[in-house]
Amino acid sequence: MAAPLIFADDIAPAQAASVRPAPVRFALTFDDGPSGEGPDNPTGIILDTLAENPTQKGIKAIFFVLTRSSGEDAAPRGRELLGREDRQGHVLALHDGSSRRHPIHRRLSDGALEESLSDGVADLVAITGRPVALLRPPYWAYDARTLAAYARHGLSMLLTDISANDGKAWGFSASPSRRSHMASELARVHERMMRGEITAVEGVTPIVVTFHDTNDYTAAHMQEYLQMLVDEARSAGIALAARPFYDDGAVLERAALVRARDIAHRADMVPWSWRWIQW
Ligand SMILES: [Zn+2]
Repeated sequence: MAAPLIFADDIAPAQAASVRPAPVRFALTFDDGPSGEGPDNPTGIILDTLAENPTQKGIKAIFFVLTRSSGEDAAPRGRELLGREDRQGHVLALHDGSSRRHPIHRRLSDGALEESLSDGVADLVAITGRPVALLRPPYWAYDARTLAAYARHGLSMLLTDISANDGKAWGFSASPSRRSHMASELARVHERMMRGEITAVEGVTPIVVTFHDTNDYTAAHMQEYLQMLVDEARSAGIALAARPFYDDGAVLERAALVRARDIAHRADMVPWSWRWIQW
């Protein structure tokens, strides 16, 4: 049942803070893929798990991909995985479109950044036949110049509310404390929700969660991660939507775009451990 509409003018200031936020739906995002691995390809395993798992079948996610970073032999496999993501209704979005591996956009020249974005967008449009709407910069590193470049290509930058801390580039191949980490991330999200800082979209509060589909450990534990998000959200006192994960790519992309345009809270959407790095 839809929550009753509450208009800001109807609420006295003292009550505003206690308004109950709309229930949460998790917007899962994956960075750095597709994996170029052969057997037991982690991107493929993650796609299988999102489709079929005991927590919620048919989950759709946003994949922030590197369109040209795989080696020659892995490139066809990567293209096939991108095609599969599109055919299965996931959202393809850009991480980087150059052959440099995971570059820091802030450090690229104007020309190199421009090329990375135009090539990346062209690569994805060739697969999906649709405009690319979303970008997430490698290492969460952006500035006014890169934001202007993203905007020129019609790309909105989506950061994250929760990071699983599983970025393979930084050596997080396993995550023994992942449950307590997820619990503390969710507690922080809950506080932000109660302060009214996270906009509801179409009746739910979209909470962006970031994983890396190139990580074998993440792939092997994806089912566990899904249930962990549900369990730890409940433990944190967060009300979840009846379907706690997005299962429609178009709805997911609309929600992500609303979150991407929330400039006021952008600083809270960089993972904690990355906030003080001066690129
Ligand atoms: Zn990345």
